[in-house]
Amino acid sequence: HNRNLFTALRAAFPQDLDGIAVETDNGLAYSWRDLERGTAMIANLLASLQLEQGARIAVQVEKSVEAMMLYLATLRAGYVFLPLNTAYQKAEIEYFVGNAEPAVVVCTPANFGWVSKIAFQAGTRHVYTLGDDRTGSLLERAARQSDRHEVVARQDDDLAAIIYTSGTTGRSKGAMLTHGNLRSNAEVLKTYWGWRAGDVLIHALPIFHVHGLFVAIHGALLNGSKMLWFAKFDPRKVIERMPEATVFMGVPTLYVRMLAETTLARAAARNMRLFISGSAPLLLETFNAWQERTGHTILERYGMSETIMLTSNPYDGERRGGTVGFPLPGVGLRVRDEQGKDVPTGEIGGIQVRGPGVFKGYWRMPEKTREEFTDDGWFRTGDVGRIDERGYVTIVGRSKDLIISGGYNVYPAEIEGYINDMPGVAESAVVGVPHADFGEVGIAVVVARPGAQLDPEELVGTLKTQLANFKIPKRCFVVTELPRNTMGKVQKNVLREQHKTLFQ
Ligand code: ATP
Ligand code: MG
Repeated sequence: HNRNLFTALRAAFPQDLDGIAVETDNGLAYSWRDLERGTAMIANLLASLQLEQGARIAVQVEKSVEAMMLYLATLRAGYVFLPLNTAYQKAEIEYFVGNAEPAVVVCTPANFGWVSKIAFQAGTRHVYTLGDDRTGSLLERAARQSDRHEVVARQDDDLAAIIYTSGTTGRSKGAMLTHGNLRSNAEVLKTYWGWRAGDVLIHALPIFHVHGLFVAIHGALLNGSKMLWFAKFDPRKVIERMPEATVFMGVPTLYVRMLAETTLARAAARNMRLFISGSAPLLLETFNAWQERTGHTILERYGMSETIMLTSNPYDGERRGGTVGFPLPGVGLRVRDEQGKDVPTGEIGGIQVRGPGVFKGYWRMPEKTREEFTDDGWFRTGDVGRIDERGYVTIVGRSKDLIISGGYNVYPAEIEGYINDMPGVAESAVVGVPHADFGEVGIAVVVARPGAQLDPEELVGTLKTQLANFKIPKRCFVVTELPRNTMGKVQKNVLREQHKTLFQ
């Protein structure tokens, strides 16, 4: 029996292969047959290269349906897909290509000059190009291949992809994911989120991370659902097409940007069934504003490159803003203190998980892999959180962001919560910086709402009436925006770096 993930996805294609599978924002339509044939031709091209078992196909291209087909073709041909953030420049590509040693590199026609040089130097023998307008050598070569291809047999434990983490806390690590990891997660989510006949997904996320590549694409394909495909997220255009869709997945910033459009209203969302948010914390305010404007309650879920999805708010039960819901079926989740003991219900600690989605380890980092697993085989997520008496999980932050000030633990999220509740505040980030007396102290970086004037001293003064003294940020800065990476995550390491000499 073939456990290749592609076999499961292909089995869910509708009977009528001439129906539309993907509709793009620039007016192209792809049928299910197009997907079947296109992936077969690219898979045949890869097969013709006679690569070794486990060969990596590294891909840094703009988002396009063909780029998705290249992913599916890689699964189909039994190789390992390795997507790279389109924002990466020379030094980063040098690191990733050197580290991953891919057999094939696919880049944009515009970047061929410098990417191919790096690739050939690293020993890669095949470099192709793929533009977001169907140009490039990959499709030219694939066009000469047969459009029939038998899916290569793979076991649950065989590698399907290496996903580099977002690099929010430091250098990205390559998470090795298997066919079994990806398939089991896709199947659980299909049931948990109630995917049904007639669903149409708005796909507006990048496809080099778990959210857009796996959660969104697998979700639609495994349900035989059409995708409305946006090469770039444009809030106005997404709202315009929303009446044709039933499911939307986004990172919190996408919701914030849509809320800024006057066209976002109940009418636009009238056929929608489900709005899903993840990858970064969704502010309660966004959650509430969305409810008010559209009548829909955003369902927040939590996951990471190393584990795919871990928890989700319920589809039918109460979706609690500020929480990430319950562990998904099959996922074990526990909260432990630094001594490795379970903390009492409601208390904060490090989140550890196990389950069928948990990865095989970090690519070429056996030490790091060993460090992140406990003796009894649970994965340390690096996230800090708690579970309430009803079982809802709340993410409080990252263990790396914990501030230890004068021997006390300070959780930035707690303080950020108070700051965000103050009038005129849009959002905030509290980070620890070195301090001669306390070891470390917190500082606050705050963004004002449009038109609002904030006085940093007044802000700190208000906090002093609300929180214990050791939690009060020693300085407060008002800025126009927080540094974010492409997934919309606040880069606290950048803030720490900026302010590291404040008290030294
Ligand atoms: P790196 O590991 O390189 O520092 P990263 O952890 O941001 O980067 P990803 O694997 O892409 O890389 O992101 C997973 C992380 O995103 C989780 O560990 C968690 O901190 C955060 N996250 C995901 N979903 C949520 C959510 N709903 N609420 C809060 N945080 C979330
Ligand atoms: Mg991480």
